[in-house]
Amino acid sequence: MALSRALRCCQRIFSWIPVSIISSVVLWSYYAYVFELCFVTLSNDLERVGYLLIFHVCFIMFCWTYWKAIFTPPSSPSKKFHLSYSDKESYEMEERPDAQKQILAEIARKLPICTRAQSGAIRFCDRCQVIKPDRCHHCSVCETCVLKMDHHCPWVNNCVGFSNYKFFLLFLSYSMIYCVFVASTVFQYFLKFWVGDLPNGPAKFHVLFLLFVALMFFVSLMFLFGYHCWLVAKNRSTLEAFSAPVFQNGPDRNGFNVGLSRNLQQVFGEDKKLWFIPVFTSQGDGHYFPLRTLRESENPLLANEGKWMEDGGSDEESADENGPSVIIRTES
Ligand SMILES: [Zn+2]
Ligand SMILES: [Zn+2]
Repeated sequence: MALSRALRCCQRIFSWIPVSIISSVVLWSYYAYVFELCFVTLSNDLERVGYLLIFHVCFIMFCWTYWKAIFTPPSSPSKKFHLSYSDKESYEMEERPDAQKQILAEIARKLPICTRAQSGAIRFCDRCQVIKPDRCHHCSVCETCVLKMDHHCPWVNNCVGFSNYKFFLLFLSYSMIYCVFVASTVFQYFLKFWVGDLPNGPAKFHVLFLLFVALMFFVSLMFLFGYHCWLVAKNRSTLEAFSAPVFQNGPDRNGFNVGLSRNLQQVFGEDKKLWFIPVFTSQGDGHYFPLRTLRESENPLLANEGKWMEDGGSDEESADENGPSVIIRTES
């Protein structure tokens, strides 16, 4: 018991290593750019002020989005998806798997669930004792079920899911902007150092490494960002891209794809002014999502869109009270 607790403690400490590496590289890049490039290498005051101004905007946005991606806790299913005491008792008393499935199917009738397990059964998490809402998956690292789980990201030491997917995308975007700005402004001084127009010194090595590191990060981020843009456009999570969600009529990769504009709004919200700011604006509460095959009037998210906007969207409790007026029943 004590050993497993110690192991878990070590695991928790080690899980922060990737975040520490990124933070150290970013802190060094701040020192190298501001001090070694702007104050030591640059001679033109106007250029220096312009560089410092734009650099700090990029730096602040990068840090803000990274912070939000790391420290926004993953959201878990609300209470109504947990088994009640009596349901739990009858589920545990029953030994036949088919009868257990039937009990879960009965409970799920009251819930807005459209997806099923591969076997066609209700998706149930034994560890959390919860009926999984659509797009929700159990994360073995976080040891909880995560709403609209995308993946567990070691670089932010957090689960990327409904609560922080927008922040994660903005973090990727601002990281790329930061790298592009640093690389493009450093390039001419890199050449000057290279051909010997500027004197040798510590600044030379910082500038050379700044370009190298910025380009390296940009190239690796570019692929990840491109992939996530495609996922957002198709309204798929990384997990759904690998294994299509199963509906009443079978697996359908495009089950949640309601068109580019609405797919974007689901992640970024309706107000375009807030799309690029790391504040929570995603639509809904992460428990139910519009389906491609449903008419608008039958769609729980769209039917309550106005209500969600007023409630602020992310509040699980308020979303509970204002649950969908239309409940989709996929089992008769
Ligand atoms: Zn779980
Ligand atoms: Zn996780």
